[in-house]
Amino acid sequence: MGDLYRLTASQITSGVRNRDFSAEEYICEILDRIEKVEPKVNAFVTVNKEQALNQARILDRWIRDGGNVGPLAGVAVSIKDNICTKGIRTTCGSNMLREYVPPYDATVVTKLQNSGAIIVGKTNLDEFAMGSTTEFSAYGPTRNPWDISRVPGGSSGGSAASVAAQECAVSLGSDTGGSVRCPASFCSIVGIKPTYGLVSRYGLVSYANSLEQISPMGRTVSDAALVLDLISGPDEKDHTTTATPAIRTTGGDIGTGADADKRGLRVGLIKELTAGADAEVSRIVYGAFDLLSSHDCSCTEVSLNAVDYALASYYTIATAEASSNLARYDNLRYGFDMDPEGYEWNTYFAKARSNFGPEAKRRIIVGSYVLSSGYYGKYYLKAQKVRALLKQELKSLYKDYDVLIAPTMPILPFKIGERVEDPLKMYLADVDTVIANLAGIPAMSVPAGFSAGFGVGVQIMADEFKEQTMLQAAQIVESGAGVNRSPDL
Ligand code: GLN
Repeated sequence: MGDLYRLTASQITSGVRNRDFSAEEYICEILDRIEKVEPKVNAFVTVNKEQALNQARILDRWIRDGGNVGPLAGVAVSIKDNICTKGIRTTCGSNMLREYVPPYDATVVTKLQNSGAIIVGKTNLDEFAMGSTTEFSAYGPTRNPWDISRVPGGSSGGSAASVAAQECAVSLGSDTGGSVRCPASFCSIVGIKPTYGLVSRYGLVSYANSLEQISPMGRTVSDAALVLDLISGPDEKDHTTTATPAIRTTGGDIGTGADADKRGLRVGLIKELTAGADAEVSRIVYGAFDLLSSHDCSCTEVSLNAVDYALASYYTIATAEASSNLARYDNLRYGFDMDPEGYEWNTYFAKARSNFGPEAKRRIIVGSYVLSSGYYGKYYLKAQKVRALLKQELKSLYKDYDVLIAPTMPILPFKIGERVEDPLKMYLADVDTVIANLAGIPAMSVPAGFSAGFGVGVQIMADEFKEQTMLQAAQIVESGAGVNRSPDL
């Protein structure tokens, strides 16, 4: 043995089930791997060592006694630290929640555990998921496993890095404006943002409720699809979830039966986004486009006019919702140890809230401004109108196309510190990803090639609840991209 940590989720489950190796052996290897690479990568805020080992032993005993096991039996998963885990601290990358231990599990966590998954730790993120690089964390930046002087993307950078660095097999992140697809692209793994309403948000610490979804990540399309299948479905604790079935997998096998089998997929490449990316990125997107057309897909270049206003609309809506969501951190309901003795209430409140980092503070200020009575019509209302227009434009495109493709990120991973002082430049990197969140449609990033040693992801977007079709296109891109390598750590 010695390299069990490299296995995919489906390989682990069948190995554990057939008793080729025990869950304990595998989890021990994962924990060794974490110990070895964490000083370089810093993907985790908390490692769940004792509990993970315990769960593995219980699972082994259960299998020895002939018990049935779930589709993720023994698989090491990491969970972004803004998703609540009962009894395991959940910091949101913030000093505000440094000591917060949730009394309940998010619905997705319960579902993963019921499938036999083993939580090995909680992963680093930009504070409250606000950022694109994982530099805005109170627990230090996460580093890109392919080159530790560079950012892994964000805000789910810890989740992506933990999967790329083989510290776990799969992970859950959250995607509000690209936070799973961006780091998936920068770390050369797969990340899927589901249709809004497919996956329960119960237990996800809110940043911008109307935009975000909990989103799976893995090293292969089938691993990420398997997790998506297991976490999706209606939840009585989240009334934005729906019962519409969007995906069926059998042990990660995406299967057939969707549109692609009846006729070749109709693929549209979004011209504006591809032209706006770095030359290397657009070269790889066109490469995926050619690959799809050599697999019987009919490929056409298309225009999406609302692209010009999408980013401004996203940042207006996201900051508005963020300013409201962050109002609850007053150090009365949740918080850290700070003695109120001797403070007048306003001073106490201000002092406690000064624990937010710079990006969260910026969003509170911008969000309060765009919602203020004098400016609501000028900014917030306009942003909602753009959102409606974008949705309409996409709906009509999806009459003619099964999937739309574009870059995931317009640029390659940059150096840590390079953009952190320039918020506008940072926001501009989200131009390709925010569209899917505004429209509520599914979108994913799949590794499509390498440039200068870095993976470049292609983004595939489908109409609402057409995950199955999107995954089929992604498997074609994955099969031809020749990106099956891992970082040297
Ligand atoms: N980078 C985007 C933002 O900062 C997206 C973040 C996210 O998806 N959570 O808002």
